[in-house]
Amino acid sequence: SSVSTPIRATLFPGDGIGPEIANSVKQIFQAAEAPIEWEEHHVGTEVDPRTQSFLTWESLESVRRNKVGLKGPMATPIGKGHRSLNLTLRKELNLYANVRPCYSLSGYKTRYDNVDLITIRENTEGEYSGLEHQVVRGVVESIKIITRQASIRVAEYAFHYAKAHGRKTVSAIHKANIMQKTDGLFLKCCREVAEKYPEITYEEVVIDNCCMMLVKNPALFDVLVMPNLYGDIISDLCAGLIGGLGLTPSINIGGGGIALAEAVHGSAPDIAGKNLANPTALLLSSVSMLRHLDLHDNADRIQNAILNTIAEGKYRTADLGGVSKTTEFTKAIIDHL
Ligand code: NAD
Repeated sequence: SSVSTPIRATLFPGDGIGPEIANSVKQIFQAAEAPIEWEEHHVGTEVDPRTQSFLTWESLESVRRNKVGLKGPMATPIGKGHRSLNLTLRKELNLYANVRPCYSLSGYKTRYDNVDLITIRENTEGEYSGLEHQVVRGVVESIKIITRQASIRVAEYAFHYAKAHGRKTVSAIHKANIMQKTDGLFLKCCREVAEKYPEITYEEVVIDNCCMMLVKNPALFDVLVMPNLYGDIISDLCAGLIGGLGLTPSINIGGGGIALAEAVHGSAPDIAGKNLANPTALLLSSVSMLRHLDLHDNADRIQNAILNTIAEGKYRTADLGGVSKTTEFTKAIIDHL
């Protein structure tokens, strides 16, 4: 309830358009009286030896302590001797699942009106394990790692999510006919977890067929769970189904109950500092964060205000074909609260 002590959450405004869209989130949360107290952290200007990246140790400690946060886009700094910011966050906070809800926004027409699905991507291994080398000149090798531990963990999260959100089906996406050992193990783990959830329908879909089905009729899917590389690709495909980068939120689930919500898009240097960015993706990410905290009344209120503003169509940012500035669109959402 709104009278209880606020919940502390870490906020990384990030780079480029990050601070502008983070401002929009802060203003809307304040107007909606969402019980969140932001602990703001900025990406440092030099490498912190404790993280080997531009992320400060203090900012990671803040997420570990609060267990919940919101992240704006971070530009990848050029130069050697440091780790990528997103990789640092993923490793240090053990962010094992990336969850991306994708649903059609009424009033913003795309090819499909009936998209309502969730992609859940394993986020720590697969082809993204960083194990690449040259065998001999002209021959390179990349090692795909699939472990029982990580596969069970992401499958459990997917079924838990499906049950908690009243979803009916979980589809495991794979290529086990070719990748028999790796994707085979992933599927075996999904099947094991599925047995514990008899109320959820479980199916297995080969990745190429899945792509065809998604572009033909996205309504065929509900919750999709998959290894890292497939998840990277399929989750962007799904973002495209509903209107693109300005709209799609995500949340990363980590060890020890950590959740870090983030927009899927980057820092958009071409429009940064011009009051042109669409804050919807970061706003819907912040809504996912509220839902993670079981603050559903606050989440509904903010989500409805965003969706109603877009549906009304009077205020839209340039990426959605409108002429509104970030601040005008933000004010319109506040008026819809
Ligand atoms: P980008 O997502 O920043 O931009 C791609 C295009 O989409 C641009 O034309 C941009 O103007 C537009 N766009 C993106 N978000 C928008 C929004 N909210 N409103 C309106 N238009 C929007 O991708 P990029 O240009 O490839 O990357 C720029 C930087 O961001 C790079 O340094 C990259 O490493 C970084 N990046 C970070 C993340 C992250 O932090 N998760 C993700 C992707 C890219």
